[in-house]
Amino acid sequence: MNHILNYQNNALQEYFLNNGYKKFLANQVFDWIYQKRQYDLNNWHNISNEVKKFIKDNLSFEFITIQKKQTDKLTAKYLFKLVDDNYVEAVLMHHDYGLSVCISSQVGCNMGCKFCESGRLKKVRNLETYEMVEQILLIEQDIKKRIDSIVIMGIGEPFDNYDNVMNFIRIVNDPKGISIGARHITVSTCGLVPKIKQFMEEDLQVNLAISLHAPNNEIRNMIMPVNQAYSIDILIDTLKTYIARTNRRVTLEYVMLYNINDSIDCANELADLIRGMNVYVNLIPYNETSHIEFRKSPNIDAFYDQLKKRGINVTVRREFGSKIDAACGQLRSKEVDK
Ligand code: SF4
Repeated sequence: MNHILNYQNNALQEYFLNNGYKKFLANQVFDWIYQKRQYDLNNWHNISNEVKKFIKDNLSFEFITIQKKQTDKLTAKYLFKLVDDNYVEAVLMHHDYGLSVCISSQVGCNMGCKFCESGRLKKVRNLETYEMVEQILLIEQDIKKRIDSIVIMGIGEPFDNYDNVMNFIRIVNDPKGISIGARHITVSTCGLVPKIKQFMEEDLQVNLAISLHAPNNEIRNMIMPVNQAYSIDILIDTLKTYIARTNRRVTLEYVMLYNINDSIDCANELADLIRGMNVYVNLIPYNETSHIEFRKSPNIDAFYDQLKKRGINVTVRREFGSKIDAACGQLRSKEVDK
């Protein structure tokens, strides 16, 4: 049985039409779910009992559940239990500019980045669209506020679950859906080049972030196996095409790992690599975990200064939730280890 939250509005219209109902019904259903946030069909008073029965008999409306929540001042981390007893996480962050949520797109991840807790536990399966939608709906219900921005950067490689993630983005972006502007949605990839090419052809204005994390093939091969399939030169060439085609700035994520990628030489090499590109570099303080041997770099300020000196747009991500296992996948891996 397909889940009702897997449908974009136009797909739901088509579904109802094909089953002998008026397509306007899709707007009413969207209004109850996404505007009124009423998830109990019995309260949908402008919809007939016969239609409600059809929906109940033919469309699933199951919800994932919040298994655990950890909070500190600026962060809340949610562990969700899926209906098949798998777990994923999402993180809510309070910024000066509003509330953002980082959601998961897969159960586990096959990309195998060496510094990542999610990569340590292999991919079990892709998330369906509804499981991503519900991460947002449940957090909004929990905090009784609407979210301002979404990043798809939690557990999983979003472009390894491309169709479901695009479907999710369209529901989030739809004014009749979750209604978050495209500029407030960011999708992040570790560098699946064919999917970046596909993504540049989508009629979506959402932001693209790349987990770069290294200035050359030698280091990137060591920490990110994906680089053996799509080397850094191919990735950078693809990004140049992407930027030329879409006219959009790309974010380059760079996690600062002690003695691996944090030297001044690395900063210079990175500056050479991205010279003249419409990008900005986001330096990420590493969130140490008990399982993985990498250490947090003490050289972030010097690295930042060097990139600035070289004329690169650079920011340092504020540290979120190091006290509450906020690094991608830590809560889930604890639950799985149990
Ligand atoms: S960093 Fe992202 S792409 Fe890499 S293993 Fe972790 S979840 Fe997967």
